[in-house]
Amino acid sequence: SDAFLSVRDLHVRFSTEDGIVKAVDGLSFDLERGRTLGIVGESGSGKSVTNLAVLGLHNPKSTSISGEIQLDGQELTGAKERTLEKLRGNKMAMIFQDPLTALSPYYTVGRQIAEPFIKHTGASKREGRLRAIEMLTKVGIPQPNLRVDDYPHQFSGGMRQRAMIAMALICNPELLIADEPTTALDVTVQAQILDLLKDLQQEFGSAIILITHDLGVVANTADELLVMYAGRAVERGSVKDILTQPQHPYAWGLLGSMPRLSASVDEPLVPIPGSPPSLLDPPSGCPFHARCAFVSEVGGTRCQDERPPLPAGRGSACHLSAEQKQTFFTEQIKPR
Ligand code: SF4
Ligand code: MG
Repeated sequence: SDAFLSVRDLHVRFSTEDGIVKAVDGLSFDLERGRTLGIVGESGSGKSVTNLAVLGLHNPKSTSISGEIQLDGQELTGAKERTLEKLRGNKMAMIFQDPLTALSPYYTVGRQIAEPFIKHTGASKREGRLRAIEMLTKVGIPQPNLRVDDYPHQFSGGMRQRAMIAMALICNPELLIADEPTTALDVTVQAQILDLLKDLQQEFGSAIILITHDLGVVANTADELLVMYAGRAVERGSVKDILTQPQHPYAWGLLGSMPRLSASVDEPLVPIPGSPPSLLDPPSGCPFHARCAFVSEVGGTRCQDERPPLPAGRGSACHLSAEQKQTFFTEQIKPR
């Protein structure tokens, strides 16, 4: 594949006290420069683990990875730590969910933002500080030449997330991975941060992976979506296709549990019943079968026995026929 980021048949397993967790089980996707891929799923679906593997941030002692991860033609699985070190914070960068744990309380915000810049370009501390001020300006921090010397606790939650974005973008990364970047923020600040990411993407041309459990977060931000469940991709398509014509019963569940601006206040959100399976002992067949209301529509024990493949391009990993997917979605989900 000549995509900017190409992931092929990725498997990630790690050992725990209780056994081997099969966290990612045969995942493939492509991402082009300047595009945003949303990876959506509940916690434990493998979305964060996938991206730690891309960045080489998994624990190499307890984790085994197979498959291919190619960034701009360079193979990252099995790459030396020195190689990954050179890429991280430079060609690829990450924004974490919780800036309070990602930022050290002991150093000024400016010093931390400048760190990757100094490390990768050999700039002086003074140059780093100037560049940090420039980045604080870009992410919309008022009075950046004063705030650059603040400590993280002097910033609000939204400002800390902006500072994290400034740090991630300071070396103009070509790939930016944002893991639940707005989860800790209130709705208004959330929207501002997502707008900011979009604006900065325009300016820097980065490819973005946006990881979230919330379809609302990707609705206005991503181009393509990958829906993950139990370490597998179960549906792939454009944001528009998945929000208007989702094909997989799990995606119907996600959509049903998504708050809608147009919904009346008393319209209840419908959570997906049950919980994701343990990945210590993943289920046979379709990983969603224990929670799925459509097993009998497929018939026999096919859902329990036979793993549905995810076709390349637009599609979903489900044994229902294309006609059934269309009918059931329209009948059961749409009119709520
Ligand atoms: Fe449900 Fe079967 Fe489709 Fe899985 S394959 S989502 S269990 S209908
Ligand atoms: Mg996560």
